[in-house]
Amino acid sequence: MSYTTQMDAARQGIITPEMEIVAAKESMDVEVLREHIAKGHAIIPCNKNHTSIDPSGIGSMLKTKINVNLGISRDCKDMDVEIEKVNNAVKMGAESIMDLSSYGDTRTFRKRLTKECPAIIGTVPIYDAVVYYHKALKDITAKEWLDIVRMHAEDGVDFMTIHCGINRAMYERFKNNKRLMNIVSRGGSIMFAWMAMTGEENPFYEHYDEVLDICREYDITMSLGDACRAGCLADATDVAQIGELVTLGELTQRAWDKDVQVMIEGPGHMPLNQIAANMEIQKTICKGAPFYVLGPLVTDIAPGYDHITAAIGGAIAATYGASFLCYVTPAEHLRLPNLDDVKEGIIASKIAAHAADIAKGIPGAMELDNKMACARKKLDWEETFKYSIDPEKARRYRAEAAPEKEDTCSMCGNFCAVKNMNRILDGEIVNIFDE
Ligand code: SF4
Repeated sequence: MSYTTQMDAARQGIITPEMEIVAAKESMDVEVLREHIAKGHAIIPCNKNHTSIDPSGIGSMLKTKINVNLGISRDCKDMDVEIEKVNNAVKMGAESIMDLSSYGDTRTFRKRLTKECPAIIGTVPIYDAVVYYHKALKDITAKEWLDIVRMHAEDGVDFMTIHCGINRAMYERFKNNKRLMNIVSRGGSIMFAWMAMTGEENPFYEHYDEVLDICREYDITMSLGDACRAGCLADATDVAQIGELVTLGELTQRAWDKDVQVMIEGPGHMPLNQIAANMEIQKTICKGAPFYVLGPLVTDIAPGYDHITAAIGGAIAATYGASFLCYVTPAEHLRLPNLDDVKEGIIASKIAAHAADIAKGIPGAMELDNKMACARKKLDWEETFKYSIDPEKARRYRAEAAPEKEDTCSMCGNFCAVKNMNRILDGEIVNIFDE
């Protein structure tokens, strides 16, 4: 049996070992999964050179997955510290790590990730090109941009964010339709500046077929970047965002024509009432390709709490069709996240993903919630901790205000509704004041 990508295999009717693993993780019939992959509605990002991967699937019919952004930077250049953050993120349940390294020997770090890390690994070649070539942005040639894509492919990266939707037509449209916040995507702003200074077409758009050939060779999933995602509520769902999405829809079909797996990146900042409609528009224009969202952040005024603004938006987005949530930490818009911020961001994203899985009826999604309800009814604190999304924090909070009576908590004491209902239904007397 020979195949190039998971999509190629699925279209030939071949069940790959990766499909078997993902189907088992999802408690799903592998033949059903294969059909979703053949249509492009589900993906298994899995580079042939990523030897340590434990594959996961992404698609709206599967459990919602989360991504954690990490990587070495000028302010945090110790590779071992960053690898420790990666390992913690994987232990906490992140299915994917995006290596956004922007300083020093990025290739060594990237290769270490694909050698040691079982999570899906994603990168943004545009960032790395700027570090790797170490020269003025305008002097990077079209060939050099593409060479970086091949280098990341050889290094075993499973998906790459490629900002190919911001072509020259979009460049002009963007300039003619003023925004409050301009472009806030790092990769998008770099490509916009490169086009402005060189007068050339976006090389990832102009040479898209070459990019696809690399992706097909290594089975890289294209993550079509959203250069024009809104950076504030006022810019959401505007001409630039939707215009770029239309281009991404066309590029999705061209990737599928070469059996290359695709997901689409999405907003951004967005008022809560626009999220469901945006998910529908993406599904229609990009023909059901999985949607990977950053946030959406539902208000602009909560720096320090953007893991919460993103979790609110992420839960709604995933309920209405997004399948992959990029975590946002409390440090968003303020500084590099530290270890605590990473943890807070992961927990918030996991809550959003889990809430959405329940809402969209993923089989078994509510199992732990039901177990938690039984533990609470029994006032069994050890079991409560066991089913908690963050057992350490739950245990610490209870210990910080120990109750007078062990079978309640300090919130209501003798007024404990759970205890009193258990007693009265068991035929016991309930005397709140003299107990
Ligand atoms: S004391 Fe109140 S908050 Fe605590 S377990 Fe009982 S009912 Fe729940």
